[in-house]
Amino acid sequence: MRIVVTIKQVPDTNEVRLDPRTGTLIREGVPSIINPEDKNALEAALTLREQLGGEVIAISMGPPQADDALREALAMGVDRAILLTDRAFAGADTWATATTLGMAIQRLGQFDLVLAGRQAIDGDTAQVGPQLAEYLNIPQITYVREFAIQDRQVKATRTLEDGFEVLETALPALLTITKEANKPRYPTAPGIIRAYREQTVEQWGIQEVQGDPEKLGLKGSPTQVKRSFSPPPKEPGEIIQAAPAEAARQLISRMKQRNLL
Ligand SMILES: Cc1cc2nc3c(=O)[nH]c(=O)nc-3n(C[C@H](O)[C@H](O)[C@H](O)COP(=O)(O)OP(=O)(O)OC[C@H]3O[C@@H](n4cnc5c(N)ncnc54)[C@H](O)[C@@H]3O)c2cc1C
Repeated sequence: MRIVVTIKQVPDTNEVRLDPRTGTLIREGVPSIINPEDKNALEAALTLREQLGGEVIAISMGPPQADDALREALAMGVDRAILLTDRAFAGADTWATATTLGMAIQRLGQFDLVLAGRQAIDGDTAQVGPQLAEYLNIPQITYVREFAIQDRQVKATRTLEDGFEVLETALPALLTITKEANKPRYPTAPGIIRAYREQTVEQWGIQEVQGDPEKLGLKGSPTQVKRSFSPPPKEPGEIIQAAPAEAARQLISRMKQRNLL
């Protein structure tokens, strides 16, 4: 069983702040982590390897500092870690990100299963997993909270807003994993030492993925960000200071003025 897990390095916060002048993310002072649901995907892959044997490969596209995320994946127990890093990949939207990941996975040769997190906590689109499955032309099951593999068939339970759904498909397939799936293991101390002293994070650029620069990075991104901004803070509410009957009269009058009544 050859399992590829896509992991994204993200700022350690749900409160992504934007520079109001440039419209870009403020990353200074914010530590980076592996996107939380990618850790659930890693845990699922490692558990599966323990059951069925095989190899787990973690792959990430990002700047050179994403090396840390891949070292953490090695310390958790993955067999191989690949960082896709090249100026030609910069400025990628979700489609170009999925294309780059897809090209790299094809370069790996045969694979059985691709696991992605459901959604990244910074970009927040939940598009990369499904787009990657489309690129690789394999079936996908999203929002997976539980799955099992038998006779090269995967049976997965996916979370819906009002219940759940059980789907089955043949391998190779892509699943996007939710935080309900498991509790990710912590890297061990010897694992961390090994990951930094003995193991290697392979670095692949545009030559290794054999990509067409027109299809990658900013050039290959059909999405154009016109402007990014934080919504203005809500204005404070007004407290009507009066006796109850008078306060109610004033409230009704103001609501009528605003056509709310
Ligand atoms: C026009 C445009 C320009 C952009 N320019 C930049 C930029 O210069 N720098 C920048 O940092 N971001 C940039 N972004 C944001 C970037 O495109 C997204 O962060 C990225 O495509 C992933 O989308 P997402 O965060 O919504 O991931 P989601 O779709 O929510 O992620 C789902 C899952 O896909 C996998 N995944 C997502 N991204 C990666 C990755 N990079 N490597 C491995 N696995 C991954 C993970 O398993 C993740 O859990 C840009 C976006 C647009 C639209």
